Amino acid sequence: MTASSQMPTFAMPGVTRRGLFAGAAVLAAASTLSGRANAAPAALPLVGPPRFYPFKIGSFDALSISDGALVIEPLFPSVGLNADAKDFEALASDHYLDARRDLFHMNHLLLNTGKNLVLVDPGGTSALGPKMGALPANLRLAGVDPKDIDTVIITHAHPDHILAVTGPDGALAFPNAQYYISDAEWAFWSQEGPDLSGLHFPEDFKAYTIATAKAVFAAIHDRVHLVKGEAEIVPGVHAVPTPGHTPGHLSLIVSDGYETLFHTTDVVHHSVAAMAHPEWQPIFDQDAPLAVATRKKLLDRLATDRVLTMVYHFPFPGLGHVARRGEAYAWEPQNWVW
Ligand SMILES: [Zn+2]
Repeated sequence: MTASSQMPTFAMPGVTRRGLFAGAAVLAAASTLSGRANAAPAALPLVGPPRFYPFKIGSFDALSISDGALVIEPLFPSVGLNADAKDFEALASDHYLDARRDLFHMNHLLLNTGKNLVLVDPGGTSALGPKMGALPANLRLAGVDPKDIDTVIITHAHPDHILAVTGPDGALAFPNAQYYISDAEWAFWSQEGPDLSGLHFPEDFKAYTIATAKAVFAAIHDRVHLVKGEAEIVPGVHAVPTPGHTPGHLSLIVSDGYETLFHTTDVVHHSVAAMAHPEWQPIFDQDAPLAVATRKKLLDRLATDRVLTMVYHFPFPGLGHVARRGEAYAWEPQNWVW
């Protein structure tokens, strides 16, 4: 049986198919009379990336601003190298996932604290895929001049987060910013031949990842500040070491007044798989056992604290809550508010 022959037919109450077509004919005749029958309607913008989503954290103005998305092909086993295929199939069926393909969104956090204009990660570029590299255009749409950004936090040195530190002309994209990165991340990528044996990337992409980190570090070396442990970066923004995805991976806590946002950055990647199976090891984690331990600890903390959470790669704008579901978790997206 084919999919189409299984498809149920829906009848609208009091309207037969015949009646519908008759109605359409009447409408067509009416529009002919008004001279619009043959005018092609304007094409709808059926394809378009997300732009930006404003929200508040206490008195801070915040934007979740999109750099587009990474295309993940295939989704399985990319999100769970150690996952049982049958477990993934069950999860995919329950959550309408396509095992062949999904998008990892790129949700950047931009903060105006009143004292600082802070961007979390400079972004990727279209070199990483046709849906990437939207951040510069989206900053313009949001009315943000890159020259006004005084603080850029680098959560970790993977290309999708840092490649756009310089523009096409080779100049710094955020020329007046001070850059913050963990001392562990800086030390790891700065050494001769960083060991990426735990990472399940093709060898040429590993080499590209190392070269990108070294080039970005060279571009910012005279304006970089190394963050040690849990530390305040600017007032209201704290770094929290969450190693595993990379050795010096940082998450962030943003707080003002009574309100707090926890930004996991890349502790989790897929809004269904990482929540239902925090023990699954995605190909993107460099030290998989450490990443799993960090992920389990952090999800437990977020579900216990019931804190507003932002996640880089979850569906735009990547804001919501981590809810406990037995031994695992679920992502509960926050409603759009305006
Ligand atoms: Zn990432």
